[in-house]
Amino acid sequence: MSLLAAAALSALAMTLIVGVRYLIVSGAFAFATRARHPGLYAGQGRQIRREIGWSLASAAIYGVPAGIIAWGWQNRGWTLIYTQADAYPLWYLPVSVLLYLLAHDTWFYWTHRWMHRPRWFRIAHAVHHASRPPTAWAAMSFHWVEALSGAVVIPLLVFIIPIHAAALGLVLAIMTVMGVTNHMGWEVFPRFIHSGPLGAWLITASHHQRHHEFYGCNYGLYFRHWDRLCGTDRGLGDFSRAAAGRRRAGS
Ligand SMILES: [Zn+2]
Ligand SMILES: [Zn+2]
Repeated sequence: MSLLAAAALSALAMTLIVGVRYLIVSGAFAFATRARHPGLYAGQGRQIRREIGWSLASAAIYGVPAGIIAWGWQNRGWTLIYTQADAYPLWYLPVSVLLYLLAHDTWFYWTHRWMHRPRWFRIAHAVHHASRPPTAWAAMSFHWVEALSGAVVIPLLVFIIPIHAAALGLVLAIMTVMGVTNHMGWEVFPRFIHSGPLGAWLITASHHQRHHEFYGCNYGLYFRHWDRLCGTDRGLGDFSRAAAGRRRAGS
């Protein structure tokens, strides 16, 4: 098989993995939503179908660069991803995970703010905000321009910051689960996390929900420090009040 065909096959395989991962994780949390909050997505069938369509298109945009780089890692020694446990000190494992999350969060915060400029909002970000309110299926519901801005982050970081393959797996798992839970319309984390001292710095659904409600605030991905530093943090939303409001409006 030619090099080009092998890399293309890897890109296709990774697209399938990202797409199936999305369907499984979003599907599982949508199922949990039905059990915990029956009727929360009532009347949102059309929106959900659109969210799934955009998300599967995003899976290809994420999968192609990731698949090509995974091929280069395996066959050409590209990237700083390592597999021997003792290649770096043990303490570096959690540090590398934190470095990836901090770098991704910084990239996301500033590109997200840029996509809220009126011209770029219309082009790149209106698709994501068309979910009102978003559901567990909106995790990857992005226009291709926005998907591209997200898809380049990890493929670039693996050339800059060394990381163990398992630690990278953890970063991807955190990215996937937080993408879903931040959009699903209820808080999955216990109160002591999102409303305690940790919640002052970590982003969960209570924080991102406010971004979808008010737009010009709460731009961060994992951490609140950029929002707090730049004066764009508008605190946490309250799902119990929002749900009560919806019930009143519905009745
Ligand atoms: Zn969002
Ligand atoms: Zn936004």
